[in-house]
Amino acid sequence: MRAPELLPTPRAADLPAERLSGQRCVWCGKTATADLSARVSVVKGELLRWEPRSCSHCLCREAKRVYNIHITVCARCSHRDYCLDGKALYELGFPK
Ligand SMILES: [Zn+2]
Ligand SMILES: [Zn+2]
Repeated sequence: MRAPELLPTPRAADLPAERLSGQRCVWCGKTATADLSARVSVVKGELLRWEPRSCSHCLCREAKRVYNIHITVCARCSHRDYCLDGKALYELGFPK
């Protein structure tokens, strides 16, 4: 599943340590259950590699949000067909 990589996280520099470390959901601070893949951000002027994680609720909400933006800006997504990113976001945001 590649969709979690497509979800933008809050700015690393603004996050408390337990959200930065992946212990807690990067968006709401509850217990994290899903990996969002590694990111590289600038924190205090230095490059930091971090691995944000998320709770299932925020993961679904953010996937929906990004999917709805994606289908309006993606040239490959039309009413008949969707690109791989579009499909992955849809599966994540609208689980069956
Ligand atoms: Zn959350
Ligand atoms: Zn697309």
